[in-house]
Amino acid sequence: MRHLMWFRSDLRVRDNPALYQAAIDADRVTALYIDCPGQWRRHHSAEIQRDLVRRCVDSLAKGLATLGVPLRVITVDTFAEVPASVHDLVQKLDIDAVFCNSEIGINEARRDQAVAARLDIPLHAFNGDCVIEPGALQTANGEMFKVFTPFSRAWLSMLETRGWTLYPSPAAQAPAFAPQDLNWHQGTCEKQGKAKSAAWPAGERAALARLREFCAHDLADYEKNRDLPALSATSSLSPYLAIGVLSPRQCLSVMEEKLGFVPLSRGEIGFAWLNELIWREFYRHLMVAHPRLSMHRAFKPETEALRWRRDENDFQCWCRGETGFPIVDAAMRCLNETGWMHNRLRMICASFLCKDLHIDWRWGECYFMSRLIDGDLAANNGGWQWSASTGADAAPYFRMFNPTRQSEKFDPDGKFLRRWLPEISDVPAAHIHQPRTWLDQHQPNNPYPAPIVDHGKARECTLQLFRQLSETCAVNDRAGQKQTVLPL
Ligand SMILES: Cc1cc2nc3c(=O)[nH]c(=O)nc-3n(C[C@H](O)[C@H](O)[C@H](O)COP(=O)(O)OP(=O)(O)OC[C@H]3O[C@@H](n4cnc5c(N)ncnc54)[C@H](O)[C@@H]3O)c2cc1C
Repeated sequence: MRHLMWFRSDLRVRDNPALYQAAIDADRVTALYIDCPGQWRRHHSAEIQRDLVRRCVDSLAKGLATLGVPLRVITVDTFAEVPASVHDLVQKLDIDAVFCNSEIGINEARRDQAVAARLDIPLHAFNGDCVIEPGALQTANGEMFKVFTPFSRAWLSMLETRGWTLYPSPAAQAPAFAPQDLNWHQGTCEKQGKAKSAAWPAGERAALARLREFCAHDLADYEKNRDLPALSATSSLSPYLAIGVLSPRQCLSVMEEKLGFVPLSRGEIGFAWLNELIWREFYRHLMVAHPRLSMHRAFKPETEALRWRRDENDFQCWCRGETGFPIVDAAMRCLNETGWMHNRLRMICASFLCKDLHIDWRWGECYFMSRLIDGDLAANNGGWQWSASTGADAAPYFRMFNPTRQSEKFDPDGKFLRRWLPEISDVPAAHIHQPRTWLDQHQPNNPYPAPIVDHGKARECTLQLFRQLSETCAVNDRAGQKQTVLPL
């Protein structure tokens, strides 16, 4: 039997269910990766992430070569051209079956349906992306959970009952060979993306080494330090998890190896970290259950009636890190410069855009995607909808982040602020979180901008907006009417 293993966001040899299954009973496995630059642009994928993907595919090719499996890279513009490409390769190599791991986005699902329809051989899809496969956890009514806590309880209980297995790397099918240069299309990655991505070593060995190091040194203090952006206290594994260089099951295994157990209840060492992996799965399960989420629709349909401001000027200030709120500006400049942002800062910046500037969360979602090295459809959408109070288990609209209080609490001496805002690096700690008055008195020519919004007033406006929305919904519900769009 000749099998084709089609790699997508599962760029690893270890714990790869589709690769493992493809190798069983096969006389020959050939691997395929399809680069779709036009599609990545439509998905707002960041250059830095595309460069990491490219380097990880190169590294994957080397790993596969040691198993005697050749990897081919085909470049087409968009998913529309994928069915014909796969079909042609299947014909050329006389393939009997194609193997892949499922992806969660609607475009990806439609692409796979089109490929399956075009082939007259089976396309086998596996779950390589979640510990518990989407669809396996449901409420008593047979629906996907809408709230995180009961989902996580069900997730933990299933993990305890079922456990998990790591898929071994497949046995070598032929003598190892030196892989040739992959046929990458020139110009898919800008120079800038390349330079920034170089800070992230490529390939599954590097990702596993980082995971082991995190579990050995930082896991025990994760809960205590995870909210402090001046420290490197979180795992920084998201770029690898997002493109599948690492699997969440590998995370569980290494955690168990280091701790001697898997922490299944709150308070146990390591539980806070496991909980983040469960959030990751929550957003993936949600997206599969509600495909509209991958089409920029709000989880709570009634919130589609909110008319967000479409103020290009304020949006650009936010993008550039020139809002006059140091914590927001430092975080955005860090994102623009490195392709990375700490989770606490993502929440603060997202809340600021939606609740202080009242700009559409979808603008922020796209901007983050276009800059992040760990851009991930489900986690990014989940994070944005949580912040905008439009999502499943969203922050209730009356719970709003005060950027200055957040800054004082999580960067008390301004270490992170000083690193990213050289203009205010010599402002005393007592004033650094809100430097305007001090700057006016001591450095009137300092270019750091004044706040572009009054947080107190913006807060009142948000409260009023959401209150008005729930009143309109209640009235419309009683009258059985459609929602109207509320002005801001
Ligand atoms: C507005 C917003 C946008 C976000 N966009 C993305 C994104 O595009 N890609 C992305 O991977 N994460 C995103 N997150 C979630 C989170 O910020 C990052 O996963 C985290 O900062 C990555 O750092 P880490 O690997 O050190 O995480 P750790 O704290 O070490 O957590 C371990 C892993 O758990 C997962 N995880 C952690 N927190 C979350 C979370 N809140 N939701 C879902 N998964 C989580 C990640 O895969 C992460 O690598 C977003 C959060 C917000 C609020």
